[in-house]
Amino acid sequence: MSRWNNIILIADDFISLLFPRLCQACGEPLVRNEKIICTACMVDIPLTNYHRVRDNRLEKSFYGRCYIEKAAAWAFYRQGGKAQMLVHRLKYGGVRPIGHYLGRLYGNILRESDFSDGIDCIVAVPLHTSKQRKRGFNQSGLIAEAMASSLDIPFYNNALKRMEATDTQTNKHRYERWKNVEGIFIVKHKGTLEGKHVLLVDDVITTGSTIEACANELLKIKNVRVSVAAIATAEI
Ligand SMILES: [Zn+2]
Repeated sequence: MSRWNNIILIADDFISLLFPRLCQACGEPLVRNEKIICTACMVDIPLTNYHRVRDNRLEKSFYGRCYIEKAAAWAFYRQGGKAQMLVHRLKYGGVRPIGHYLGRLYGNILRESDFSDGIDCIVAVPLHTSKQRKRGFNQSGLIAEAMASSLDIPFYNNALKRMEATDTQTNKHRYERWKNVEGIFIVKHKGTLEGKHVLLVDDVITTGSTIEACANELLKIKNVRVSVAAIATAEI
């Protein structure tokens, strides 16, 4: 290693001492090669591996509700778990690099399987304009954009529009959640999506009502097929 490289590494360590980079899931300092999530947290996150399993539980949860070609999520979302912490820090802490990081990470995982074969474009579940303005970004959009770049598939930003700012869905049952989001999404630029296999991306899927509402709008377009990818999903 050259002297100059050594100096850069020493400077890097020195900067880390002054401004420690912290794991976004547990708050412990990251070591040199770690980014966003420390190794201990990474191995602690329960992965679904749904991208390798057809007719997985997430896909089955949409049976009879909307026709979803394939569905996968990176991790299981557990109360108080690391995946929940990451999504929370992204959405409410405004730590946008978490969105880029998770999108890229999951995109790379999907690229190594046949999950993304045949997908023509990626769209994200939108926030209502007022909410996006308040938050400053759409977390699903950040994830989708990074995923699109890892998979080298076009990302159609703003392909879907949310017409109403719905209440937080956390305490609602599936039927209430469905009533809450049914018919609130519209598709813009329908012609661009015609005949395409669309990968619909969200941050977290719990009851799937939001995905169902988006997918049913997309499926009104001629010859559209819809698959789904999320960072986390509840253990259904
Ligand atoms: Zn950690």
